[in-house]
Amino acid sequence: MARNPETRGTCAYCGEIVTRRGIDKHLVTCQKRQSALQASAQTPETLWRLHLQGSYNHGFWLELEMRGSASLEHLDEYLRGRFAWLECCDHLSQFNLGGLSRVEIDMDRKADRFFQSGMVFRHIYDFGTSSVTDIKVLGSSQGKPVTQYPISLLARNQTPEQTCQECDQKAAWLCMECVYDLGEDVFLCDEHLKDHEHEEGPIALVNSPRLGMCGYTGPAEPPY
Ligand SMILES: [Zn+2]
Ligand SMILES: [Zn+2]
Ligand SMILES: [Zn+2]
Ligand SMILES: [Zn+2]
Repeated sequence: MARNPETRGTCAYCGEIVTRRGIDKHLVTCQKRQSALQASAQTPETLWRLHLQGSYNHGFWLELEMRGSASLEHLDEYLRGRFAWLECCDHLSQFNLGGLSRVEIDMDRKADRFFQSGMVFRHIYDFGTSSVTDIKVLGSSQGKPVTQYPISLLARNQTPEQTCQECDQKAAWLCMECVYDLGEDVFLCDEHLKDHEHEEGPIALVNSPRLGMCGYTGPAEPPY
């Protein structure tokens, strides 16, 4: 499904707009990140930096920090349950090595036992209407986790802006009936949603690559 590519994102700590390349530089100088680190009472351990992006739409991306002691199951749970970047109807999910072989990776695998800098693997959610996420391991360092959780968000893409098909205003809705019946993304503003021929199934636009797929409705708001 075509969406506007978005390479700029926001810092999860202060909300400042950052480019993908500028994230590291920003995090070092980000006051809120630095105070969170200072306030953290967590025991230092290996922390892995991950870059996740929608396989079919690179405009949706997450920059995560994951504890070395955390497992892939934690990552799966984070993407699905915790902030529902992907979750709709409890479909099956899997990690695999990608490529043609698609060797499945056991979800019990711990980051420290499995990750290597530069490696790339995949997460698949739903084997019907699949959401595929490419995951790149950027590197690791020793440090204090900022939260007590296995994973935390550092930055993510800005919500792609969509324009109402009836006017030039910013859209707030996607009509799912148009998606199902016409195979088209029809974005609408509040005003034009009222006049739209389809009354059922508009969903609020949320910042997720699963928008418009299956019964997905979000919220795609990370709790940490
Ligand atoms: Zn910041
Ligand atoms: Zn579903
Ligand atoms: Zn419609
Ligand atoms: Zn409109």
